[in-house]
Amino acid sequence: MASLDFIADSHPTAPDSVRGITSGPPSSEAGGILTVDLAALVSNWRALGHRAMPSECAGVIKANGYGCGIEPVATALARAGCKTFFVADLSEARRVREVAAEAAIYVLNGLIPGTPQVYAELRARPVIGSMVELAEWDAFVASTQWRGGAALHVDTGMNRLGISANEAAALAPRIRSENHGITLLMSHFACAEDTAHPLNDRQISLFREVRMLFRGIPSSLANSSGIFLSDNAHCDVVRPGVALYGVNPTPGKPNPMRPVIELKARVAQLRTVAKGDTVGYSAGWTARRAARIAVVSVGYADGYPRASGSSDETPGGWVTVGGKRCPLAGRVSMDLMAIDVTDAPELRRGDFVTLIGGDLDLDAVATAAGTIAYELLTALGHRYHRVYRTE
Ligand SMILES: *Cc1c(COP(=O)(O)O)cnc(C)c1O
Repeated sequence: MASLDFIADSHPTAPDSVRGITSGPPSSEAGGILTVDLAALVSNWRALGHRAMPSECAGVIKANGYGCGIEPVATALARAGCKTFFVADLSEARRVREVAAEAAIYVLNGLIPGTPQVYAELRARPVIGSMVELAEWDAFVASTQWRGGAALHVDTGMNRLGISANEAAALAPRIRSENHGITLLMSHFACAEDTAHPLNDRQISLFREVRMLFRGIPSSLANSSGIFLSDNAHCDVVRPGVALYGVNPTPGKPNPMRPVIELKARVAQLRTVAKGDTVGYSAGWTARRAARIAVVSVGYADGYPRASGSSDETPGGWVTVGGKRCPLAGRVSMDLMAIDVTDAPELRRGDFVTLIGGDLDLDAVATAAGTIAYELLTALGHRYHRVYRTE
């Protein structure tokens, strides 16, 4: 896959790596190995598109492609036929433009004052979220005749970005007659993963009313969970993010997505501790038996949640060794953490333990840390040897 060569610092595929493109330090030196299965990502995108048919399936790849790498993710999706991307800011739009020359790129955080010209240069489209942004964009469009497009974000209950439904209603006649180059009408769910939440139906019906006023302009409402909420949420374009990367968009039900990432940490050292010894900072974890401890070279500076640490009072997170669950022993340090591997006697120095993968999926790790898979993904560190699996 020669055109994935843009990945900086690419190293020849190490013997222990699967087929694919790599980045970061060589696997022989790295403390952690992150595998991103681009084939699974593409398969998830297709499955979501199938579910939302006949709507177009876009790809949300903000926050460096949810931590997975914005260039490889955009390249893989564009090749599979994805035509529309959503990013958070202009620097992300620039990175996507480098690898997806023809794609429509919407910038969710809206228009920073003075930036319309940059949008034109990148052929990116702002998601306009307030009347002042619209006024600035209108002035630019009028003076330059720029026809590159923009989305109009209408707030239907999230109260974050977007003009109000009343503002949209007042604007509608003007938008229809003058055509300000609005190519997408957009809104965003506040509680799509909670299927029973009454706000979902309120947002769907309010957005339906707004869409009637902007007939002819394509519309978009659903994020990952929104796709599974109701066909009424599909509109013309769906905007999945987290489900592309393997996170369950239907909490409480089986995960319909394929796992995309796997994370392994290297054993830097094995040591034995006597019953009653404590491990790590604050001496908060005490061995209840003579224990074998693996110190692995991944810590919170690599995005592994510090809140996963354990103590005598709280169980904390766990890793797996050959499918066996092994609990964290004590606090997560910046660059290291300790695991109680007494029940995995086969483990040797230099081996790897699984931090994310198999039954220990993103949702399980996030829950053990009291956070959500979104945060875990977007925090994925920069010291890992990364393998991008393409088949
Ligand atoms: C992040 C985001 C999405 C994608 O949401 P997921 O829950 O990750 O699918 C869609 N739309 C907007 C406006 C977003 O900010």
